Amino acid sequence: MKRVSVDDVENSIQPAAVMRPLTDALGLTDMAINYYELEPGDSFAFAYHSHEVQEEAFYVISGTATFDTADGPVEMGPNEIVRFDRDEFQRGWNRGDEPVRALALGAPLEYGTQVKLRYCEACDAETDTDLSGAADDADAVVAHCVECGAETGRWHRGSTDGEVP
Ligand SMILES: [Zn+2]
Repeated sequence: MKRVSVDDVENSIQPAAVMRPLTDALGLTDMAINYYELEPGDSFAFAYHSHEVQEEAFYVISGTATFDTADGPVEMGPNEIVRFDRDEFQRGWNRGDEPVRALALGAPLEYGTQVKLRYCEACDAETDTDLSGAADDADAVVAHCVECGAETGRWHRGSTDGEVP
């Protein structure tokens, strides 16, 4: 048995105030679990994305989460759970006024090919995205358009001031 207090797991750099990755903390080998706290405007993900291999479920503990999907936005309240199939595109947000607390569960651990669509101004299109640590900032994650190399987003640990990219 391995028992973990979620608050003891380090917060990662995400478009969310809090994302504590529990997979390694628990030593999970076949599934992924992440704990999220989204302030209004925050997001669960860096992009509108899909996983080739991993299916994913989101359980909302409190607040209202809104998932952008191919069928339009889907609102989820407390004690609701949603499953996204492989190759299904989604990006979850907090578009409400209250914080959102939620768990993301994915299996198997590997994603396979992950398409990450973000709007690129230079291309004037939704293009696939490369995510990496910022070359000029050790505590930031940046997104670059794979078509033209333009930066389309930048995030730091914790809550984002203003609009989350
Ligand atoms: Zn571009």
